[in-house]
Amino acid sequence: MAKIIDGKAISAQIRDEVKQKVSALRQEGKEIALAVIQVGTDPASGVYVNNKKKACAYVGIQSLSYELPEETTEDELLALVEKLNGTDSCHGILVQLPLPAHINADNIIRAISPKKDVDGFHPMSAGALCIGEPGFVSCTPAGIIQLLKRSGIGIAGKRCVVVGRSNIVGKPAALLLLRENGTVTVAHSRTADLREICRQADILVVAIGKPKFINREYIKEGAVVIDVGIHRQENGKLCGDVDFEDVSEVCGAITPVPGGVGPMTIAMLMENCLQAVSFT
Ligand code: NDP
Repeated sequence: MAKIIDGKAISAQIRDEVKQKVSALRQEGKEIALAVIQVGTDPASGVYVNNKKKACAYVGIQSLSYELPEETTEDELLALVEKLNGTDSCHGILVQLPLPAHINADNIIRAISPKKDVDGFHPMSAGALCIGEPGFVSCTPAGIIQLLKRSGIGIAGKRCVVVGRSNIVGKPAALLLLRENGTVTVAHSRTADLREICRQADILVVAIGKPKFINREYIKEGAVVIDVGIHRQENGKLCGDVDFEDVSEVCGAITPVPGGVGPMTIAMLMENCLQAVSFT
């Protein structure tokens, strides 16, 4: 049976480390604040936003909450972002996605100052990651690297396959694995022989958004499997993009869903807020 990579425990460790650093900064008279902006009342977004505010409260970061009505215009949202860009006491700006259809999310992301872009979605942050300069890294991929490192899994020299090439997960995960000296292949919906490519992976990261898509036929014996997917099944339970029961019989280590990558995202958001202090 595979080793379970415990994202709940590792994320708790990171949150506690951030809490200590926040407390040390407070003793120097520095307070950290994160603006959390939600437009509309999408219930899933509401849950995510609440979890982020709770994490802020735990580590001692102040959350500045902006709950805007569904009919907020793009110009009004841009004006708020601009105001927060110029507010020295606000260190990070997070706009919860998805936004209502009448607001262009790209315009909003680009309006956030790269110095306060704690989600790491701004093109400047993506570019900095690409050329190896300091900048914010998007939280889920950053969490994947921490899961590997803190589980004692080396990346350098390993054959890494990332399935999925989204801007928020697949691409940054591939760049981070490359930064850690992995030998990286990125696969996607047009990849030929996906099974064969996955079977070459020492470390397989799956972010495709298809429940239980990856089974044991995609896995090299002993491989490390990181499952980013989250899906609510008909029975109400969560599952990932990987068929956990099947794959865990052949792989060496695997992240469960829930309790794997999921909790890392918010922990890394807290890390990014801490990092934001040095940019402002
Ligand atoms: P996207 O839908 O943006 O991207 C999916 C990617 O998977 C695309 O690149 C697509 O390829 C590829 N893909 C789709 N089907 C296949 C297939 N059959 N074979 C190979 N590749 C395929 O998803 P995200 O990256 O945003 O999210 C992926 C999953 O991770 C989702 O389940 C999401 O809920 C979850 N997630 C979890 C987070 C967490 O905190 N744990 C955070 C973010 C996401 P192509 O580009 O060719 O279309």
